[in-house]
Amino acid sequence: MSSSDQSSPAHLPDPDDYKGYREPMLGVMKRFGVTVWSEVVARTTRGDFQGLVLPRSETSDAEHMVLKLVSGYNIGIRHDTIESMEAVGYRKAQYKIPEEPFPVDPDKPRVMLLGTGGTIASRLDYRTGAVIPAFSPGELYGSVPELADICNLETEKLFGVFSENMGAHEYQVLARRVGQAIADGYDGVVIGHGTDTMAHTAAALSFMVQDPPVPIVMVGSQRSSDRPSSDAARNLIAATQAAARGPIAEVMVCMFGPTSDRYDLLHRGTRVRKMHSSYRSTFRTLGGIPLAMVQEDGAMEVLEPNVRPRRSDRQARVQVAFEDKVTILYYYPNMQPDVIDALVSCGYEGIVIAGTGLGHVNKKVYPALRRAHEAGVQMYMTLQTLWGFVQMHVYETGREILELGVVPLANMLPEVAYIKLGWALGLHPGDPGKVRELMTTTIAGEMTEGEPFDGYLVLQGAVPEARELIGKVWW
Ligand code: ASP
Repeated sequence: MSSSDQSSPAHLPDPDDYKGYREPMLGVMKRFGVTVWSEVVARTTRGDFQGLVLPRSETSDAEHMVLKLVSGYNIGIRHDTIESMEAVGYRKAQYKIPEEPFPVDPDKPRVMLLGTGGTIASRLDYRTGAVIPAFSPGELYGSVPELADICNLETEKLFGVFSENMGAHEYQVLARRVGQAIADGYDGVVIGHGTDTMAHTAAALSFMVQDPPVPIVMVGSQRSSDRPSSDAARNLIAATQAAARGPIAEVMVCMFGPTSDRYDLLHRGTRVRKMHSSYRSTFRTLGGIPLAMVQEDGAMEVLEPNVRPRRSDRQARVQVAFEDKVTILYYYPNMQPDVIDALVSCGYEGIVIAGTGLGHVNKKVYPALRRAHEAGVQMYMTLQTLWGFVQMHVYETGREILELGVVPLANMLPEVAYIKLGWALGLHPGDPGKVRELMTTTIAGEMTEGEPFDGYLVLQGAVPEARELIGKVWW
């Protein structure tokens, strides 16, 4: 949130002067001549507080007033704790961030920033209390001017959605746009995206834009940029550094590494997953280690030896398609066979099973799996454990499931398998042999030979804390 420079105790009456406030708090505000956007000093039974009175959501309680303190944090003050209040100024928030023209420097790399929405492109709407997508990429630059030190940035807003609304259509529009940016000679592409389904989109791009010559870096934030603890600027700067000058030409996700803002990690688009609902360091590479670290000063350390290097050509294999009738079946004990029969009768063409342990479902559903197989539904096995490999030869039950036509997918993550199956079925409708061949062939690191010993064991693999710990434990 930015606010106007003008600070004055008086202002013209405004219909939103008490926005969201009701009795009993409303009476207290009126008694002390305080309105929304007043800068106040409040003496309360719990101490003195100075801050800006924020509008409240229409659905919030009537007992509290919300103050944005100078530190940037918001607090609620209960009406019956207020002894006195004095309005010492008035600063109405400007929701619009000015768009800044980006300075052009011919010696710097060219990066295309594509916006899709999410928290990184959002601000808090104080009227409703909701986080709403609002920033255009140009405004985003206006609030993070450091980007101009890194590259010549061009921006384009493709969508303005929270990431649960990304889907087949958006994946295809985005993949085509990325392909175009590569053909147009950009040195890297940054994609702003909501974190919740960023891994799904990263997987979709990994299959739809294969073998890119430049970095394609997805970035988001867990906290919106009006919050003091926001990770938006740090992540955006790191992602732009990775796209502009980074040596790795793959689809990646760039987000906070540790809980502090010391460095960001670059994760491979087919091995990354959001693992915490609220930590800023929410993304983790599963079944491997992150590809690289991006330090605060932009220095990059490649951690994974097996990466695709940047090239000077302008070619990528862009293959855009997606079949909607694909699903993930997350197995649970006592699953009934009619769930699978229902999918078949609804016309589903592909089912990715997230099985237990090494790849199991109960015997009760076996006949339904057989019926699905006979109906031509493609079925693949992945693991709920997320780490480790499907091994269907270890137990007899696993072997039986194989015979029912369920194909094991090594250590491909369930969501990645879902995206890959949607893509493969979209690309080769009516050609089950081709789909199966694609599904069982590694295209973008989605299946690996093995897991690194330091991937699962400690934190996030080869980050400094982990190295230190491994040093103590192993040597
Ligand atoms: N719900 C948001 C989204 O995924 C969360 C975020 O951006 O981090 O769009």
